[in-house]
Amino acid sequence: MTSEQYGKSGLGDIIVAPLNKLVNWARATSPWYFQFGLACCAIEMMATAASRHDLERIGMMPRSSPRQADVMIVAGTVTLKMATRVKKLYEQMADPKYVVSMGSCATSGGPYWQYGYHVLKGVDLVVPVDVYVPGCPPRPEALIEGLLKLQEQILQERPMQDTVSKNIRELFSRKTKERKSAAATAA
Ligand code: SF4
Repeated sequence: MTSEQYGKSGLGDIIVAPLNKLVNWARATSPWYFQFGLACCAIEMMATAASRHDLERIGMMPRSSPRQADVMIVAGTVTLKMATRVKKLYEQMADPKYVVSMGSCATSGGPYWQYGYHVLKGVDLVVPVDVYVPGCPPRPEALIEGLLKLQEQILQERPMQDTVSKNIRELFSRKTKERKSAAATAA
């Protein structure tokens, strides 16, 4: 069929693609990030979001609530006092969720790794980290590079298989428990 015939029949408006690819395309191009900062790295994160670098060019916009965010950018020193709060906020985010460790403080304790008795030596001790961005502080270009890496990672996921198989596993486990409890009651 020629392109003209496609146009007339309306078939030209149909795109066929694997569902995983479509879902990943939507997810990877709109990872909203949770808007909070812990120390000096947060200033660079704000600069990355501002007009000169404009994070929204790559589909990333800030959200003020963890419940509406896909990505947590840990920007700054994580003190022991804040570590429990960071973990709590991470748990309030809906799945699938991602964490970017921005700067050497968030990644390893940074300048405080040796004598900073009050500083967590890496945020990956309390939440799982997907991408580490090095620097003290990392420049906006480095953060953008890290976020593009995260988008590449999201594109490689298989959300349909993983979600469906997780749901089937949960269903089987629930049914098995119900059968066992019915058998125990009958005995
Ligand atoms: S890595 Fe450097 S710039 Fe970032 S929070 Fe730590 S001391 Fe500040």
